[in-house]
Amino acid sequence: MINVTKAFLPDREEYIQYIHEIWDSVQLTNNGPLLQRLESQLKEFLGVDNLYYCSNGTIVLQIALKALEIKKEVITTPFSYCATTNSILWENCTPVFVDVDPNTFNINPGLIEASITENTEAIMATHVYGNPCDVEAIEAIAKKHSLKVIYDTAHGFGVRYKGRSLLSYGDLSTCSFHATKVFHTVEGGVLVSNLPELNQKLHLLRAFGHRGDEEYFFAGINGKNSEFHAAMGLCNLPHVPEIIKNRKAIFDQYDGLLNWDALRKPCLSPDMEYNYAYYPLVFESEAAMRKVQAALVEHQIIPRRYFYPSLNTLPFMPVKYECPVSEDISARVLCIPLYVGLSPEDITTISQLINRNL
Ligand SMILES: *Cc1c(COP(=O)(O)O)cnc(C)c1O
Repeated sequence: MINVTKAFLPDREEYIQYIHEIWDSVQLTNNGPLLQRLESQLKEFLGVDNLYYCSNGTIVLQIALKALEIKKEVITTPFSYCATTNSILWENCTPVFVDVDPNTFNINPGLIEASITENTEAIMATHVYGNPCDVEAIEAIAKKHSLKVIYDTAHGFGVRYKGRSLLSYGDLSTCSFHATKVFHTVEGGVLVSNLPELNQKLHLLRAFGHRGDEEYFFAGINGKNSEFHAAMGLCNLPHVPEIIKNRKAIFDQYDGLLNWDALRKPCLSPDMEYNYAYYPLVFESEAAMRKVQAALVEHQIIPRRYFYPSLNTLPFMPVKYECPVSEDISARVLCIPLYVGLSPEDITTISQLINRNL
């Protein structure tokens, strides 16, 4: 079976070396030495100063909202994974959906201002597929209306935009290190802050909100991660450049083999170094997408409907919004397999199956 993705695994012996260190230190979690080493390597890799390694890419979105004391309306994108919206709901805020740009599938900044009310406190946007949002336009709107900006950069590890890590944009930016992502620590996530005044608060929010036995500040959460997860990160991080290079080769092969008469892809920003996180294809109709999906599945090739449904249509949304562009794209989009080790023969087979069923 060929899945849409396959987790990258480092050399087993290398991981075991770290496990020996854990056995020696007998520190399994709680800001341990491996976690601190991973945080300092991530800071260096990303070129950022304030970074918090946490248990997953959803809790970091929640901590971001909590740290900024966002309580009311959050303008967000309908074209993302449900974790983006769920974090807003989980923090008892109201998601206000603004439709996406038909070319990039990222939140359309031209539509944001019309959705701002006296209750709007923040913008939470996803750099979908790792393709940067229009961060300049979003920043200008946020400044004008005194809004906070949080970027869900779950897909953007390793992406550089205008010479800087994509994670360095916004007031706060988050990433997921889940096993399915470009860089992973099995489970994990990171919060990057451009607000140094929040340093202490973010540190405390991640670990129950208290220091030692006696100083209790506020209701924090358990967002900590373990030494075992940090060890996986330490093994995988040095491989990121080669992982991205390998993904690019697959990406280029698909680009050359697929029949573009009846297929479309999102337009990638010209100002970035990409990480080739996903290979989304937008078909001419939902029926055309389903035909290809069925043909692939019949051959044990499992694509995924990233991202369906359009999040504004989820039944548990407190307020209904219409986002025709997002709803249209999400009905027709399919991500095809892309992972380190996918063979050129398999890429050819997948491409031929798609072309034959268009
Ligand atoms: C994967 C993902 C998340 C959640 O990450 P977890 O680490 O699985 O909690 C959040 N947002 C987006 C856009 C994602 O793709």
